[in-house]
Amino acid sequence: MANLPAVRTLEGDLVRCGAWLRPAEGAFTHVAKLALINALAPNPLCQALFRCNALRRSPSPVSGRSFLVTTWISRSRLGIAGAGTLGGFLSETCGRWAAVIASDSHLRFCRPCADLGYHSSLYQIDAIKACPIHGDALVNRCLNCGAQTPRYALTAESFQAPMRCHGCGCGFGVAWDDEPNYTVWSQVLDTRALMPLWRKLQVIARLSVEWPCLQSWCDVPTSASTEQQRIDCFNALLQLTDYPDIALQARVCITPIALAPRRPSWEIQSDVGRRAIYKSIRRRIASQLRKVGSPSLEHVENAFHTDQANGVTVPRRGTCPPLLHAFMLWTQRFEEFDVISSVRTALGYRSLSECSPTRLRTSILTWPGDLSANDQGWGHFAWACFLEALTDAIRWQCAVRGFEDPLEQDDPYDPVVQRQRRGFLEQLSLWSPKLSSAIEPVSSSIGAMTWRDASGALCAGLVTFRRTGVMSRD
Ligand SMILES: [Zn+2]
Ligand SMILES: [Zn+2]
Repeated sequence: MANLPAVRTLEGDLVRCGAWLRPAEGAFTHVAKLALINALAPNPLCQALFRCNALRRSPSPVSGRSFLVTTWISRSRLGIAGAGTLGGFLSETCGRWAAVIASDSHLRFCRPCADLGYHSSLYQIDAIKACPIHGDALVNRCLNCGAQTPRYALTAESFQAPMRCHGCGCGFGVAWDDEPNYTVWSQVLDTRALMPLWRKLQVIARLSVEWPCLQSWCDVPTSASTEQQRIDCFNALLQLTDYPDIALQARVCITPIALAPRRPSWEIQSDVGRRAIYKSIRRRIASQLRKVGSPSLEHVENAFHTDQANGVTVPRRGTCPPLLHAFMLWTQRFEEFDVISSVRTALGYRSLSECSPTRLRTSILTWPGDLSANDQGWGHFAWACFLEALTDAIRWQCAVRGFEDPLEQDDPYDPVVQRQRRGFLEQLSLWSPKLSSAIEPVSSSIGAMTWRDASGALCAGLVTFRRTGVMSRD
């Protein structure tokens, strides 16, 4: 026992190994060291640390004893040693994204790191292909016999002989070959190369992002592997960390979209596909509107006021259903001609023979401009635009609540009505960019982003931003 540790801390009858932990060390090697020092089999180990038994087999995508997430741990029952391992769980760094961007199906390790008894939870992120410290490939197979590594979880298989191959018994690094190797465990390892990634993950943890936020427009399931999906998610999130100011003040929502070969705009304009998608969404909303049923629906043109100065159309009455206002906003952004009659047609108050064919604006049809989305991605965009319009309509209603519909008042010379009318028009000019298809052809809260995946291929996502804390009047 020449390499007996110099420092030991006792908790009950458990010896802790704090002195051999390096920065950003994952929970797997932390728990492995505790297991070896204390000579504990998987079940007593799991009991001592987390007050539950290790699992034998766990077929679920995220193991019930995963080191990615702490959801299976009852924090109130943890002792000091168990609580000390929590910092090494990936979710403690990147929050709820841990299981979205990383997998616990197999331990992924760097050989030179393992030689020193080190492993970081960051190595479980599929998009990280090489150790940021050494540049060596992260592997999920025994380098001696090729057997797959165990789950990155506190399972019986993983901790029967921790950090060793269950096929050939070989350690995943020199530090794990035989006895607890205190000397190697306490050698200095410079982990500064992990810190940029570590900090980005902390920013990701604070992002308020919905993913994926929209119901799949098309019923064709994605053919990408779950590993590729995790890589795509990670890369998309990483893009957002370059905008920390936006990220902290906004709700950001990303929907991956597939790119298609570029087509000239005249070809898209004459294509019936996108018009069919648009009309299908329009039909759905119109049928919802008919269910809402309001007398104002029958006289759509009388329900709205169009501002002479900026051409913005808003409801005359506060009782106008936001859904109808949103429908109006949305069709204005999408359709080229006479929107009021288009809305009346969509709602069934005008016969089809009376109306001109639906013609969509080129800027909308060719979204996102310098890229080309496939029809499914474009459908996501069209639906996202409607959801934005609905949010705007609800917020507009909140903004002018309390002005008592000044456009509807009988006496325009009454000082109270005048004051309310002024307040209403002030709000209208404040809101005009949001409510005007002339100023914002596409809502400014909708965008697209691109990134390169590991193979260098271009990926794209539909992004919606929603500033938080702006609904001040409700
Ligand atoms: Zn390494
Ligand atoms: Zn092996």
